[in-house]
Amino acid sequence: MNTQKDIIIIGGGAAGFFAAINIAEQHPELSVAILERGKEGLQKVKISGGGRCNVTHAEFIPSELVLNYPRGEKELLGPFHTFMTGDTITWFEERGVELKIEEDGRMFPVSNSSQTIIDCFLNEAEKHKVEVLYNHSVKSIQALENNFLIETSQGEFQSEKLLIATGSNPKIWNLLEDLGHTIIQPVPSLFTFDINDKRIKDIPGVVAKNVDIKVVGTDLESNGPVLITHVGMSAPAILKLSAFGAVELAKLNYNFKIEINFIQLDVEACLEQLKDFKQEYAKKTVVKLAQFDLPKRLWTQLVLASDINETMRWADLNKQQLEALTQQLTKAIFQVTGKSTFKDEFVTAGGVDLKEVNFKTFESKRIPNLYFAGEVIDVDAVTGGFNFQNAWTSAYIASTSIMLR
Ligand SMILES: Cc1cc2nc3c(=O)[nH]c(=O)nc-3n(C[C@H](O)[C@H](O)[C@H](O)COP(=O)(O)OP(=O)(O)OC[C@H]3O[C@@H](n4cnc5c(N)ncnc54)[C@H](O)[C@@H]3O)c2cc1C
Repeated sequence: MNTQKDIIIIGGGAAGFFAAINIAEQHPELSVAILERGKEGLQKVKISGGGRCNVTHAEFIPSELVLNYPRGEKELLGPFHTFMTGDTITWFEERGVELKIEEDGRMFPVSNSSQTIIDCFLNEAEKHKVEVLYNHSVKSIQALENNFLIETSQGEFQSEKLLIATGSNPKIWNLLEDLGHTIIQPVPSLFTFDINDKRIKDIPGVVAKNVDIKVVGTDLESNGPVLITHVGMSAPAILKLSAFGAVELAKLNYNFKIEINFIQLDVEACLEQLKDFKQEYAKKTVVKLAQFDLPKRLWTQLVLASDINETMRWADLNKQQLEALTQQLTKAIFQVTGKSTFKDEFVTAGGVDLKEVNFKTFESKRIPNLYFAGEVIDVDAVTGGFNFQNAWTSAYIASTSIMLR
């Protein structure tokens, strides 16, 4: 026997709960059910942002906000005019969750706990009588003439309208392919670079505050802070490259060279500065006095890599050594040999082809009454709360349009 619902949402994650609550709140007469494969939902919310849940980002201009989406930049501009970061803040505030802004723009619940977000969703879902059916793994989806037939591990369901919010789940992508959708093959986004290099081997924890990085032989470049880790490099400048270069770096099998300008000066300007230092600090030992606001331990490594030993003074440096140090400071080459997971947040690039989604409604262009929200679509962002913002915006618009039709 089939259980009939007005609206079924597959996936009890961020986007699924957000959409279900909106629908149930505005249309209590509709029966809304979430089919969730896990024994609990919202598991990614729980671990997100290192357990604090980076809910969104304090960027309030849609045309600026979209720049954080390597996939989805063009398509999300319209949706952000409908539901933006400011709306997210209000949405949570109206439901008793206050968000705070950190120095770098990331926004978290004031409680610093992702459980606050989970509790908010669970309470709201209960209050508005959203039926959340756990341990209901969806096995197949059929688009019948006026209905969807959904087979789960615990029986069959039918609904006139269907919202898919299953994140980066390969099984659901396969089912969507069977229904006629194109799935852009998934590759990891947001990862750190593995680098085995003498210059950084002994200095984990060191941060260079503002660097320019290029991936040699490509157009990929970024800037910002870099953190030296036990296995290589991380922090925003690296994560931006990993997101914007997700597809290209996968093709290179995560084996490529990066060029780092640690001081954001060109070669000539740097060399001039070093010549000035040679005059000014003639009697001082080069390694002892870090320049260009670089951390001492990094400065030391770059100096040693320039054929300058620990006892040399500025006055001792010859032309080759000044040039070698310039090279290390402005064009240091590092070989990347692989990638590691970035623990605070990681996402997958790939999913339902952007061309097959109507971004005014988040309805499928292929199958009427089928809607999408969240990471199931080929949208992903850099780190900082932008991935959840995509989930909230798409869920809000999908849930609003699903009720209109
Ligand atoms: C460790 C980590 C930390 C993160 N931190 C942040 C952060 O701080 N800020 C940020 O913006 N982004 C963060 N992200 C990314 C963010 O979590 C995702 O972009 C977001 O959760 C996507 O929401 P979603 O609803 O589309 O998918 P999900 O939240 O993944 O939800 C999908 C749901 O669908 C269910 N499902 C899948 N297949 C089936 C099936 N066959 N049948 C029934 N149910 C199914 C899953 O069990 C899951 O509950 C993080 C990601 C990770 C992995």
